[in-house]
Amino acid sequence: MDQTHIDALRSLPVAPCRHLIEGQNVPASDGGVMDVVSPIDGRVLTQIARGTSADMERAIASARSSFDDGRWAGQPPGARKKVLLKWADLIEANALELAVLGVRDNGTEIAMALKAEPGSAAGTIRYYAEALDKIYGEIAPTAEGTLGLIHKEPVGVVGAIIPWNFPMMIGAWKLGPALAMGNSVVLKPAETASLSLMRMVELAHEAGLPEGVLNAVTGEGAVVGAALGKSMDVDVLVFTGSGATGRRLMEYSAQSNMKRVYLELGGKSPNIIFADAPNLDEAAKVAAASIFRNAGQVCVAGSRLLVEDAIHHDFVAAVVKAAEAMQVGDPLDVRTTIGAVNSETQLAANLGYVATAQKEGGAVVTGGTQILQETGGYYMAPTVVTDVTADATLTQKEVFGPVLGVSAFKDEAEAIRLANGTVYGLAGGVWTSNLGRAHRMVKSVRTGVMHVNTYGGADGTVPLGGVGQSGNGHDKSLHAIEKYINLKTAWIKL
Ligand code: NAD
Repeated sequence: MDQTHIDALRSLPVAPCRHLIEGQNVPASDGGVMDVVSPIDGRVLTQIARGTSADMERAIASARSSFDDGRWAGQPPGARKKVLLKWADLIEANALELAVLGVRDNGTEIAMALKAEPGSAAGTIRYYAEALDKIYGEIAPTAEGTLGLIHKEPVGVVGAIIPWNFPMMIGAWKLGPALAMGNSVVLKPAETASLSLMRMVELAHEAGLPEGVLNAVTGEGAVVGAALGKSMDVDVLVFTGSGATGRRLMEYSAQSNMKRVYLELGGKSPNIIFADAPNLDEAAKVAAASIFRNAGQVCVAGSRLLVEDAIHHDFVAAVVKAAEAMQVGDPLDVRTTIGAVNSETQLAANLGYVATAQKEGGAVVTGGTQILQETGGYYMAPTVVTDVTADATLTQKEVFGPVLGVSAFKDEAEAIRLANGTVYGLAGGVWTSNLGRAHRMVKSVRTGVMHVNTYGGADGTVPLGGVGQSGNGHDKSLHAIEKYINLKTAWIKL
């Protein structure tokens, strides 16, 4: 990574961002805009269109007619593959520009943004492009004189609603399989992280995606997101974001056309450290990184640290040391390991959670405060709170910030009980040299992903999805494709 190149890109003016409907950049129908405030310095970076429900209806109508006339779904698989591969190439060719734009918008540290955003988005789109002509229907083993065919068809119009952490990566998790299977899509990026994803949508058109197949509308969730959720003409809704919004989307579906709704929601993921972990120093560094990178704004963050009594004191000291060694600050400095909190609102919420934790008996052993106020940006010191009880707010609620709650346990049974003691079930980790225990913990902790002697870092070949109130359905891997197809049976008398 070249700091000089990053510094040149960071000072470029950012053009106001408009919707992309039917291949055209268009303003909001009433001319409305929203300021984009950079979390790096709290200054206005540019504006995005403040979409109206009429804008969203226009985007949905465009997607519907593009699906119905077969301009994308009707193309031979090889032709669709070519466009998607070219799109992935263009994302890679523009990776630094996209990453810097995204960081100016959402505050993720650049080293992580480069890898996890354009890098991972291009890889995801390529993965589904390569897969699309290897997915076949089936012939059922029916009785003589009959033929049962099972077709795999695109669903139609997919609505995709994206959060502000990792917009390109998470956007690609939805767009890659949806477009590969021949669907048309209407995308709604998050208010505080639209810019890089909208640029990525433009690149899809440069790669040859036909107009109307991918429309994107910016603006407020409660307006344009709700219009997408309530539409009678959207067949599937895929969402990553908070549980509160996920709940609304299910209601919108019930109130409208009962569209399928797939939710990737939050978590309160337990990272469980046994005294027999193979390398406790490594475990402490990974535990700190897993909650503090991207200022804790990672859905699978190991936000609850459960530590066996025998090593609790020394292990917490090692995590605190690792946290204090991390570099908080300007996310566009390649040395930074903890960037900015996404918004002033989110920072206030994080600090509120720390105050509540203290009121409930938690002890802040490092951090707990806003720092670098002189920058005008939103930065928070990595925070470790010990003595967190099973029913404390810090155990039960997702902070989505750089705040780690620590609890002690005495044996495997207590570790499992604590790990499973929330409404969530997204991810978790276990550190032990005992193979039997590792397998028992993987089976017993109710999550979609368990890490063993590591945390995070899973690649695109494995699914990501939650259980409980962390959601349903999966992103990544070939399993994600199920969300974007219908099975149709043809029963034929021979
Ligand atoms: P959010 O729910 O506030 O917003 C997500 C998206 O929903 C945004 O685009 C927003 O505009 C839209 N939205 C808001 N209200 C809406 C409404 N009434 N109708 C339709 N759309 C609406 O979430 P966020 O704060 O952007 O993201 C953080 C959350 O996302 C955290 O809970 C985090 O854990 C979760 N997350 C989960 C995963 C995963 O894979 N499970 C990945 C990343 C983030």
